[in-house]
Amino acid sequence: MKTVSDYFGENVFDDRVMKATLSAKVYNSLKQTIDEGKALDISVANAVAAAMKQWAISKGATHFTHWFQPLTGITAEKHDGFISPSPDGSVIMEFSGKELIKGEPDASSFPSGGLRATFEARGYTAWDPTSYAFIKGKTLCIPTAFCSYGGHALDKKTPLLRSMEALNKQALRVLKLFGNDTVKRVVSSVGPEQEYFLITKEMYDKRPDLRFCGRTLFGAKPPKGQEMDDHYFGAIKPRVAAFMEELNDELWKLGIMAKTEHNEVAPAQHELAPIYTTTNVATDHNQLTMEIMQKVAQKHGLVCLLHEKPFAGVNGSGKHNNWSLATDAGQNLLSPGETPYENAQFLLFLCAVIKAVDDYQDLLRISVATAGNDHRLGANEAPPAVISMFVGDELGAVLDAIENDTPYKGAEKTQMKLGVDVLPKFNRDTTDRNRTSPFAFTGNKFEFRMLGSSNSIACANIMLNAAVAESLRVYADRLEGVSDFETALHDMIKKTIKDHKRIIFNGNGYDDAWIKEATEVRGLLNYRTTPDCMPHLLDKKNVDMLTSHKVFSVEELQSRCEIMLENYCKTVTIEANTMVTMAKTQILPAVAKFAAETAADALSKKALDPALSCEYETSLVKKLSGLTDTIAIKTDDLQKAIIKLQDAEDIVKESVMIRDGILSEMCALRVACDEAETVTDKSYWPFPSYADILFSVR
Ligand code: ADP
Ligand code: MG
Repeated sequence: MKTVSDYFGENVFDDRVMKATLSAKVYNSLKQTIDEGKALDISVANAVAAAMKQWAISKGATHFTHWFQPLTGITAEKHDGFISPSPDGSVIMEFSGKELIKGEPDASSFPSGGLRATFEARGYTAWDPTSYAFIKGKTLCIPTAFCSYGGHALDKKTPLLRSMEALNKQALRVLKLFGNDTVKRVVSSVGPEQEYFLITKEMYDKRPDLRFCGRTLFGAKPPKGQEMDDHYFGAIKPRVAAFMEELNDELWKLGIMAKTEHNEVAPAQHELAPIYTTTNVATDHNQLTMEIMQKVAQKHGLVCLLHEKPFAGVNGSGKHNNWSLATDAGQNLLSPGETPYENAQFLLFLCAVIKAVDDYQDLLRISVATAGNDHRLGANEAPPAVISMFVGDELGAVLDAIENDTPYKGAEKTQMKLGVDVLPKFNRDTTDRNRTSPFAFTGNKFEFRMLGSSNSIACANIMLNAAVAESLRVYADRLEGVSDFETALHDMIKKTIKDHKRIIFNGNGYDDAWIKEATEVRGLLNYRTTPDCMPHLLDKKNVDMLTSHKVFSVEELQSRCEIMLENYCKTVTIEANTMVTMAKTQILPAVAKFAAETAADALSKKALDPALSCEYETSLVKKLSGLTDTIAIKTDDLQKAIIKLQDAEDIVKESVMIRDGILSEMCALRVACDEAETVTDKSYWPFPSYADILFSVR
């Protein structure tokens, strides 16, 4: 029998394959490009392309594609055959270094937010050698960046790679200050935990809202939801287990280290976590994971829902972005060290993150803002829209001691001096996981928990990398060339704690009292919705920071802001239109029909015996009739509000009209329809109920 280690990564042109198929010279040269970012020579590209083609064809591939991540949030591919005519009428299989390095897909159908003039529809894709090529079906997929001809990024990978470069540059400066001259590269790593729902295809097909919007727009609360907490970590049902088994196999073949899987809090909700890897690769892998989850589900007669809030009143789905920083020698810079010097270095990197999260709360919030995630953040199960950090009691006490020059409770010395004293060992806090914190330190990494389940993790990591790079820049600028490094370092750390401790909060983030304290006492930001936060992408401080580290150009930021708002408006408008259609063509006729039949029943009873009261039927008909009137009015109101959107002068105004108008009209319509569902004979109701859907997989 084949074991996992036999087929793990079998569809990936990874290091093992490169070593086996490339000459030592080509391999070493490519390695330098991958590990150190050295420019790539065309002769090397040709040799790599030849080996890649040979390998791919031997695995049955007939096509290749430049695989990229446009701003639609999903991945794109345009397949080209390897096949090429030969003069004698036969065919040869061709793939050159040029084709490997650069592609020219028509960019006109991808969002560009005004970056691409209409006369210049072309864009180009450029090979990213730091992420391995892989085979999907019969196609060799080459991870690429996607840019306009003017050189502006039209994708999520380009700024992510730039942010990693910025972080590397500043982190190396700081490490040099600590005497580390051998380190060549600092890389951020990510392990994203992915939540999702699994329902049967049969239920899905009957719900236009799920099919068009990925979430239910109607649905009365089921008699049983997640009250009993009996799903979380519960036994996995056979059908789900079969899905997970095949999913793992598919992911493993692609070299994706899917490691843990379990049931989540809500019925039908599950989670998958891979082992962490370089941020860029983790991002590619997460995109692939989401795609493959949906494909494998289909093979099992299931549908995988990645929406952040598929069901009202039931937990939504998020993605936990576990993030850390490590050197090429494998030292985790967020891991407390063994010596006083390492401790001081650890504390400085920790402070860099604290400062980054406080200074750029808005960018972090923006990085997870979508119409779908707006339903989650601030609701009861997800972190609030206010960003704060959890560092745990012990580390919190260490920071307090440094800030106030007071003895740390565990230390013998009267006062903790960085670079001299050894930090007390603090344990990885595994008992108090503080699940309510949006940004938690978990011993040797940070866990950013505000991401939505369908979000690309690129955006969050771009902002995180860039903001931390900025903190490190400030530190390096200040500390380079000082005569008394230790004192300057101590002062720097102390100042960071003083200036930014408002962002540290170890309590319950779901508590209303915290939101009040956070906003009113501590002055933290609380952007509840996408229209609230998105325009701040263009605030001067954010533009200055992101452009100074060359993560984005001003034009790229303007275009992204526009695209994200457009995305928000389109998403909600499609939902609103779907509601109108469902209400008019399904719900209203169904409820009216049930009312008419009930009235007819009463009449026939009365015909039998005029003395019968028929109170049940009469009051039910009254109730149903009142509800259909309300539903008709609310549907009309919603439709009018949708039409009014045409008056919006720009996308910012349109998004505000949606936030303040459309969403509340949708809510009102839903309330009336959900009430009607609770009093309508089930056989009349036009689609499966929440209970039918949530407990459909057996
Ligand atoms: P849990 O959160 O369930 O306790 P872990 O802490 O082991 O599980 O890991 C959760 C995720 O964090 C996994 O994807 C794991 O690979 C990732 N992770 C662990 N260590 C790091 C690290 N140093 N950097 C980034 N991600 C990490
Ligand atoms: Mg976790």
